[in-house]
Amino acid sequence: MRKEFGTGTERVLAIEDMSFKVKEEEFCVIVGPSGCGKSTMLYLAAGFEKPTSGEILLNGRAVEGPGPDRGFVFQEFALYPWKTVLDNVAFGLEIQGVEKVEARSRAEKYIEVIGLSGFENAYPHTLSGGMKQRVGIARALAYEPEILLMDEPFGSLDAQTKKLMQRELLRVWEKDKKTVLYVTHSVVEATYLADRVIVLTARPSRVKGIVDIDIPRPRSYTDEDYLHVRETILGLLDEEVTKAFDKERPHPPEPD
Ligand code: ADP
Repeated sequence: MRKEFGTGTERVLAIEDMSFKVKEEEFCVIVGPSGCGKSTMLYLAAGFEKPTSGEILLNGRAVEGPGPDRGFVFQEFALYPWKTVLDNVAFGLEIQGVEKVEARSRAEKYIEVIGLSGFENAYPHTLSGGMKQRVGIARALAYEPEILLMDEPFGSLDAQTKKLMQRELLRVWEKDKKTVLYVTHSVVEATYLADRVIVLTARPSRVKGIVDIDIPRPRSYTDEDYLHVRETILGLLDEEVTKAFDKERPHPPEPD
């Protein structure tokens, strides 16, 4: 699969020859240097963007556009400020044609799953960042999708809340084993969460390496196995981060 943006001289080759598989019920994390095409990869899987060539298959069917078989969680929550928590979660289902009563009951169910019971009638501005993202996750789960696509979902949360939310996400995932494709630039986070980590190269991105993680959960950040895997991923990534940085850096002026 390949993805190019723009036309003529304005063309940006974001993804070059990318190929990998995500197994059912797997927690798969994509890491790569900033700007390498991680979000683009997720947007392609969501059907928000189309590949320039190649295709993305979900259970053998090519992705042609967005659909309720994929739930998307955005970094910036993307909630409707004028709607309550319940309405934010139920709205997408109603748009999909789910009957109002059924949409509300499903919304209530996933609000409870993600630990937000009692906040159904609250408005987003009254919630903390972590709670807002709980709404974002409940909304994605309410579609009862085959795969959850998560784009740096905890990237704008403070360090403490981020850790709590990672634990919370694993709790939900372990109970109702969904397939997850999760993007982050953080190797610490990837090593904590993933069954498998796909490391991408600097742009134009390809798969640099795949690391399987077979450490029981909950994982400890100081555990020897954890540190070993984290170093392996960092090793793959380090070279690429330097490449990406050098590419972005303005060229020094020519000497006189
Ligand atoms: P990452 O998520 O790894 O930081 P992105 O997927 O956001 O990277 O972007 C990859 C590259 O594609 C970047 O160079 C970005 O500027 C470019 N890009 C992303 N979306 C568009 C777009 N809609 N139009 C043009 N270029 C884009």
